[in-house]
Amino acid sequence: MNKHDSERVAGLLRERGYMQAGSPEDAQIIIFNTCTVREHAEERFFGNLNNLRARKKAEPELIIAVGGCVAQKERELIFKKAPHTDIVFGTHNMPNLGHMIESVEQGRQAICEITDAIEVMPTTLPGMREEKHHAWVPIIIGCNNFCTYCIVPHTRGRELSRPVEDILAEVERLVADGVVEITLLGQNVNSYGRDIYKKSKFARLLLELEKIKGLRRIRFTTSHPKDLTDDIIGAIAGSNKICEHIHLPVQAGSNAILKTMNRKYTKEDYLKTVEKIYAAIPGVSLTTDIMVGFPGEAEEDFLHTLDVVEKARYDSAFTFIFSPREGTLAAKMDNQIPAPVKADRFDRLVKLQNRISLEKNMELVGRDIEVFVEAVSKKNRDMLTGRTRTNKVVNFPGPADLIHKEAIINITEAHTWFLKGKLKEVLSLN
Ligand code: SF4
Repeated sequence: MNKHDSERVAGLLRERGYMQAGSPEDAQIIIFNTCTVREHAEERFFGNLNNLRARKKAEPELIIAVGGCVAQKERELIFKKAPHTDIVFGTHNMPNLGHMIESVEQGRQAICEITDAIEVMPTTLPGMREEKHHAWVPIIIGCNNFCTYCIVPHTRGRELSRPVEDILAEVERLVADGVVEITLLGQNVNSYGRDIYKKSKFARLLLELEKIKGLRRIRFTTSHPKDLTDDIIGAIAGSNKICEHIHLPVQAGSNAILKTMNRKYTKEDYLKTVEKIYAAIPGVSLTTDIMVGFPGEAEEDFLHTLDVVEKARYDSAFTFIFSPREGTLAAKMDNQIPAPVKADRFDRLVKLQNRISLEKNMELVGRDIEVFVEAVSKKNRDMLTGRTRTNKVVNFPGPADLIHKEAIINITEAHTWFLKGKLKEVLSLN
């Protein structure tokens, strides 16, 4: 969602005549689009903001703006810690950023604009896509779930879906502009439509998008396990365009911890959903988010997490150490886990998941797989890099004119995080 918002900020300012600078050092306006979901991200942001103090002194005309979730939550703290900040704008105030910048240019007064209610959907703002072939498409913003560790409902507000017709019209425009792959975005895409149609219309939306000519790949993130219904699994199973990749955050394996987290499913419910996914969608890849060290997590609870990882056999996982986010219920719980215990569990979890990721990638060696070629590899200029429908990165030697084409790649090597292969066939896009 932050990437999408950054593209809208860039598009909005380009429309007002601003140009993207080659580097932060060349920029006359610096905009931070912040994330507060992890403590580490917030600390890094404050470090980066502080690093601009001397430069602002030497270049008083430099404009520094802060948006996103940290801005929404910590307006006073930002001005207190970094009085050299010119603009603080909330997650719903992005549409007005151009005016705020102009006001600072004219009056050089610091500005803070934070509203709690959304007035303009960010999707209606002009965008500036980072990649020609791919677009982020928010379908629902906000979240009604209130997991006890999560700050998102407090910074992004309650669920608000876009009408199906608006989304279809946007995707048609994007496809006409060269987009072949979209990622549907939402804190919980599975509950798409509940606020406006009284029940989830996510499966129906997927099937409507499938009909758009010229669109090749449909991805979505994130799914809440309690809301991943059979019709959604069925839509993916029966589709040529919806990619066989489901990101299904489990967070923890112990029922007691899941309950304290307010996740509204049990380990057994979750594993049953996983079983259904594997049975219905051959070759699907499954990824997840897992947290260790949630308040009250005993060794036995943690062993349930390892058990889920063994049973679900994720292709990869984002693994985190719990960090209390001020303003959430979990931050106030008194049975916090000591740092060394959390670190030990984290290491054990990562080791297990890495083993499984490698095993799953090794199963693909020798297979011919469809890859959308994205770019020249950043690490090796002789290699191209692309993605499978299952969202795995594949590197292979090939000519640069293959970029933005589809190819069949024969997989020759498996690594934990990526695959290597050789070009077998170039596919035409129509
Ligand atoms: S469903 Fe996701 S965004 Fe919503 S509260 Fe839970 S973790 Fe946060």
